[in-house]
Amino acid sequence: MPENALDNPVQFLKGIGPKRAQLLSRLGIATLGDLLHHLPRAWENRRPTPFEQGPEDGSFPGAVTGPVVVRGRVMKAGEIRAGMHLLLFIATLKPHDSPEYIEALWFKRRSRTYDVFAGIKKDMVPGADVWIVGRAEPGLLRSRKIRVEEYYLFSDPKASLHVDRITPLYPLTEGLTQRRMREAMAGALNAGASQLREVLPLSLLQKRRLLALPQALPAAHFPRSDPELEEARRRLAYEELLLLELAWTFKRRQTKALLKAYGYEIKRTLLTPLKARLGFEFTPAQKRVINEIFEDMRGPNPMTRLLQGDVGSGKTVVALAALLLAVENGYQGAFMAPTEILAEQHLWTFNQFLKGLPVRMELLSSRIAAKERKQALERVRSGEADIVIGTHALLEGDVLFKNLRLAVIDEQHRFGVRQRTTLRRKGPPLDLLLMTATPIPRTLSLALYGDLDVSTIDEMPPGRRYPSTNHVQEQEAFEAARREAAAGRQVYIVYPIIEESAKLDLKAAMLEYERIKTRVFPEFKVALVHGRMPPKKKVGAMEEFAKGRCNVLVATPVIEVGVDVPNATVMIVQNADRFGLASLHQLRGRIGRGAAESRCFLIADPSTPQARHRIATLCETTDGFRISEEDLKLRGPGEILGVEQHGDISLKTADLLRDCDLLAGAREDAEELLSKDPKLLAEENLPLNRKLYRRYEKNLRTIDLA
Ligand code: ADP
Ligand code: MG
Repeated sequence: MPENALDNPVQFLKGIGPKRAQLLSRLGIATLGDLLHHLPRAWENRRPTPFEQGPEDGSFPGAVTGPVVVRGRVMKAGEIRAGMHLLLFIATLKPHDSPEYIEALWFKRRSRTYDVFAGIKKDMVPGADVWIVGRAEPGLLRSRKIRVEEYYLFSDPKASLHVDRITPLYPLTEGLTQRRMREAMAGALNAGASQLREVLPLSLLQKRRLLALPQALPAAHFPRSDPELEEARRRLAYEELLLLELAWTFKRRQTKALLKAYGYEIKRTLLTPLKARLGFEFTPAQKRVINEIFEDMRGPNPMTRLLQGDVGSGKTVVALAALLLAVENGYQGAFMAPTEILAEQHLWTFNQFLKGLPVRMELLSSRIAAKERKQALERVRSGEADIVIGTHALLEGDVLFKNLRLAVIDEQHRFGVRQRTTLRRKGPPLDLLLMTATPIPRTLSLALYGDLDVSTIDEMPPGRRYPSTNHVQEQEAFEAARREAAAGRQVYIVYPIIEESAKLDLKAAMLEYERIKTRVFPEFKVALVHGRMPPKKKVGAMEEFAKGRCNVLVATPVIEVGVDVPNATVMIVQNADRFGLASLHQLRGRIGRGAAESRCFLIADPSTPQARHRIATLCETTDGFRISEEDLKLRGPGEILGVEQHGDISLKTADLLRDCDLLAGAREDAEELLSKDPKLLAEENLPLNRKLYRRYEKNLRTIDLA
């Protein structure tokens, strides 16, 4: 036997044999300690439902959100046939706190070989006192009928784990039930709660007024009151957030500890001519962020900076300035974009701005033929290329640079953390500039980009006008588009493509293209662009449109990022209710890039309150920050961030919206802890050190944690 009871294999716990231990192992639970740390995913209020207080319409507080819980005496019980294959068992109960009878219903498929209700019949005998937990569907409730999900005999001493309390619901695996899990957990708490040791240093517990772990953990499993549950939950959430922030802070410190000595000088041999060629002045916000970036680049440690700025705020030229600083000093720069169209567009833009300057650009994308690619790679390797623009083709192993010093990642939320790291390894301690048009609230960026410094462009170039946005009938949008196109302006018509129904969506978009071309706008030149097109055709179509050779572009969301056609003044978004809020905002950022006024039309028949809210928000505001905050509220952080990108940051207990004060505190505490004890080796920090290492082992592998 291990010396600490918490290290005992679960299989030796009362009520858990080898078979159940096997099931638990699928949940990553091997020891008693693991089991105790298997936290509920949710809690249900299972105190008896105050039946008599239900509102008149019969929809009862518990009916929608939680179960109905009734305590009563069985008056009579029996089964009836409810269809060809279905049997129904009905128990008539007299609730303890109400004179009116209710009926508890069990539905089961008939079996030829055994009595499906045998167990229930044994328990539901007249005179028995029972707890019923179930759902009252609206119709059923009015008639006081409840579909039973769980029931417990009053005489069962374990009933109090399941009903008449705040009841935990656990993550399960096939073959386990909530009932078994709760009973196993109660056993585990009996056996191990007294062995639990605190992980957090006492000073932090006091500073943040948090419950100690030996109290918090049992309270999280079987809370005795709502405030106790919230206190326990916050304690566990804080620990989770502190570990996350410690991991980020380690990483940040690790990068910052690297030395680089690039001897950057602001020579202005390229920067000054660039300014002259732009044809506009940098906005004060652009100037400020360029200074922040230059300061990082000239500093002794590698830069990891996130540049956020709303769609159209002018991030590209800021990146270009940074790239030119590297080139001025004889180094190479890389610029990675999420799509080919965008990479091409950037190349084109850079070429415009740099015409006549001695800057050699190279494009790397999957569109390039093998032979050309080989030559391009050679130019990258020999240093003949100064700025290398590309898609994730840049990340491939055979892309070797002569002296890469700065990497820019455009629309970085489209890439994963891993891709960021891969790019970073392409040179000596690289400076990394990440750009995003999806600004996120500061609290959230602490959690997600804890290793980044953040610069924000918070003003738009002068003359840039936001498109007015209206929710209209298709006809109205088409008329407006017709007027604009007749006046020489250009129009986007965008159709949604979502992953789950991509094929169907694409088919629909192609059909629509035919309709638009032949019936809606026969007098104009209409082109189509979608993501499944061969890259050559895709870029070809975009180019046609960019050069003004066609009036109307029917498109899928491939145009969402970055594409810049100032003459396009109208955007019609079809089935706008199917787009996410941030996507719609990005999309409409494609227009309003020129001097002329621009208009966005949303065609939608929103069927859910959320969809209506999205549409209304968009018509009402153009503030990217507000929009991403609304988005966050509607969808929750998990979804916004995408699984791929943030798989590493799966929080079990903490809720980034609800616990943002905790998060800010955790960030502060992580900084403080590590500045006093950089490797967490002090006696009081050792438990935390061990836990951190276990939790973030993979992420911290490169970090010397002792
Ligand atoms: P985003 O931040 O969305 O990437 P872009 O960099 O594509 O925005 O810039 C949008 C447009 O604004 C481009 O046509 C760009 O040339 C122009 N632009 C950028 N900065 C300024 C400025 N200071 N004054 C006027 N126009 C600008
Ligand atoms: Mg951009």
